[in-house]
Amino acid sequence: MRPNFVNLFFSASVLFLATACFCSADRDGISDSPDVYVDESNTRSSQPNTAAPADANKKKDEGDFKVEHLDVETPRYKEIDRQVKADKLLEFASEKLNRALILPHDIVLRTKDCKEVNAFYDAGDRSVTMCYELMEHFFRTFKSTGAPDAKAYAKMSDAVRFVFLHEIAHALIDQYNLPIAGNEEDAADRCSAYINLKELGDEGVRAVFAAADAFAIESKQTADSKRNMADEHLLKEQRFYNSLCMIYGSNPAKHSNIVSNGYLPKERAVRCQGEYQRAVESWVNLLEPWRKN
Ligand SMILES: [Zn+2]
Repeated sequence: MRPNFVNLFFSASVLFLATACFCSADRDGISDSPDVYVDESNTRSSQPNTAAPADANKKKDEGDFKVEHLDVETPRYKEIDRQVKADKLLEFASEKLNRALILPHDIVLRTKDCKEVNAFYDAGDRSVTMCYELMEHFFRTFKSTGAPDAKAYAKMSDAVRFVFLHEIAHALIDQYNLPIAGNEEDAADRCSAYINLKELGDEGVRAVFAAADAFAIESKQTADSKRNMADEHLLKEQRFYNSLCMIYGSNPAKHSNIVSNGYLPKERAVRCQGEYQRAVESWVNLLEPWRKN
């Protein structure tokens, strides 16, 4: 553990999010449920109004994202933990999420030392856990490419934001019982990419780039014999290309260098705008009944 990792945490301010105001539905170019947002004042006529009430499809709000503070046992994470709590990073994220989303039950958000490099949603106690080991892992991963401490720290923060929203996606899939016709891990990646790229501006773009970088570096560091082909996650190489495809598809003109520099093959790139739009439309529609107005 490099001491700088701890020191750099002192400047932590936006580790998790300027999360998602993905409640306030950016509707440009997206066809979402029309009835819910019709302004009645513009639609009155002499005809009897047989339309359903505007919020007919909305679900009951019976829960919140709640922050749980646990004591860390690993000495080298104590200062990081103190700082995360002092900066109220999870509280900030939960407030944003609570302003955005209706929940059928409480969902707990926590950071802790897990004795493993991980982040996960646990359906058993409805909780999202971000492990300090994962943050350290990302920091070391970016440092391994020769990045200076400050750069590695910044990229770690960005990558953590991608992962946090991936875990939130798992929580929403479970709590809302969302129909996911395909691989849930991929769906969670697409949800995180959608929120980051559609709702969080440059900060969100950085998060998806950082995740792509981490996938690329990790793939090179993983020996073929260590690959777990039975794992439900896509291969790191696939997650790398999918992340780049989402970024490129979100704005091909702005991100054309991803293709011109050879990171994303042209054969894939031509389909990325459609792929991105499909992911956005899918998630907008899935979350629509659960958004607060
Ligand atoms: Zn996952």
